Amino acid sequence: MTPLEYDRSRIWHPYASLKDPPPVRLAKSASGVEIELADGRRLVDAVSSWWCVAHGHNHPAITDAIRRQSDKMCHVMFGGFTHEPAVALAERLAAFAPPGLDRVFFADSGSISVEVAVKMALQYQHAKGRTRRTKMLALKGGYHGDTACAMALSDPDGMHTLFAGMMPRHFFADKPSVPHGGRWSAADGDSILEAVARHRDEIAGIICEPVMQAANAMNFYHPEYLHVLRRVADENDFVLVFDEIAAGFHRTGPRWAAEAAHVVPDVMCVGKALTGGHITLAATLASSKVADTISNGRPSAFMHGPTYMANPLACAAGVASLDLFAASDYAANVRRIEGELQKGLATAKSLPNVRDVRVIGAVGVIEVARMPKRAEIDRVIDAHGVWLRPFADFIYTMPPLVSDTATIGRITTAMVDLASAPPGPEPEDGDFHE
Ligand code: PLP
Repeated sequence: MTPLEYDRSRIWHPYASLKDPPPVRLAKSASGVEIELADGRRLVDAVSSWWCVAHGHNHPAITDAIRRQSDKMCHVMFGGFTHEPAVALAERLAAFAPPGLDRVFFADSGSISVEVAVKMALQYQHAKGRTRRTKMLALKGGYHGDTACAMALSDPDGMHTLFAGMMPRHFFADKPSVPHGGRWSAADGDSILEAVARHRDEIAGIICEPVMQAANAMNFYHPEYLHVLRRVADENDFVLVFDEIAAGFHRTGPRWAAEAAHVVPDVMCVGKALTGGHITLAATLASSKVADTISNGRPSAFMHGPTYMANPLACAAGVASLDLFAASDYAANVRRIEGELQKGLATAKSLPNVRDVRVIGAVGVIEVARMPKRAEIDRVIDAHGVWLRPFADFIYTMPPLVSDTATIGRITTAMVDLASAPPGPEPEDGDFHE
């Protein structure tokens, strides 16, 4: 069997069936904004390999850091040991994060960092003797990951409904509806206020993706909404959690999406671009108020501790990645990319199958009425040499933050070509269309 034949018959891919699975491409190497295939073709990675490859693939500063660390120590348990890469990364993260979020818990993936954030909220309330406060208030349209707790906080009508029976039940407010760049209306916060009025005594914390709801909705909403959350959290002593895993590290422009509102949460989840997409790592950052309250409770220990916590190779990659963020003006580069995306996608607005075109920072979305057929998506990828991975009704790009003007031009041309293709069939009931 060739590697592709073996893969096709035995290996599950994300959100894919093993019966007649969609095609996969054999990747051989990657550098800069491109992925090289085994047959020598090169594809621009227009989705930054699910939004993590911020500085480009195989950045020498990051691969060197991993190599140097691997000569010394690949792993050691974090229970009973610490090491220089973990300390260096914690220091850099605290300096890069919004003020006051300087207590660090290292997690092995974004989903796990969300689980950790929720446990922090619960343990905070437990330490204060509020043992009935065991639920989170989340937003419809959100996405927080694929592990059980993270699924339970994601859009209840979204991609995880199949698992509803096993998930803990949380409370949901409506999806924020005033768009980013639109006129703020206080009514957008009403659903939050209603949920709080009904369930105040059961709520431990509030969680959201600030400003950009990504994987379930591609919804860019008004930053003022975050003030409503901050106020409600302060009034009720809820732990406010911002999931910046997708939006952080300049993806929407500023370092953190919540900077657009100057709102600082009590707990923040970061991941993806933390290592520049070179190796898995995430972190949950907490304020001293949250950390001290937990530490003064019973148990005083925070009850989580994964095997690969603070893996030294990943922490070394994180240090190198944060040094890259500090060394050049990513916000300015993202502003340029934003302008180029707006210009390049503008022609899609008048296409018959297009419902909306929207851009925030280095994120561009064409929302279609019906996604073109799989064969059309493959045709566009091959014809333009641009890797796109549309889902639901969204043809989108989140390119590496270092993409130059020509690269953005190629990406937007490919996206408009795909949006011009004939609409595909209605997705069948019960089918997940990714
Ligand atoms: N939170 C957000 C906002 C995300 O976009 C994602 C992944 O797309 C996650 C959490 C989960 O991260 P991971 O896939 O690393 O578990």
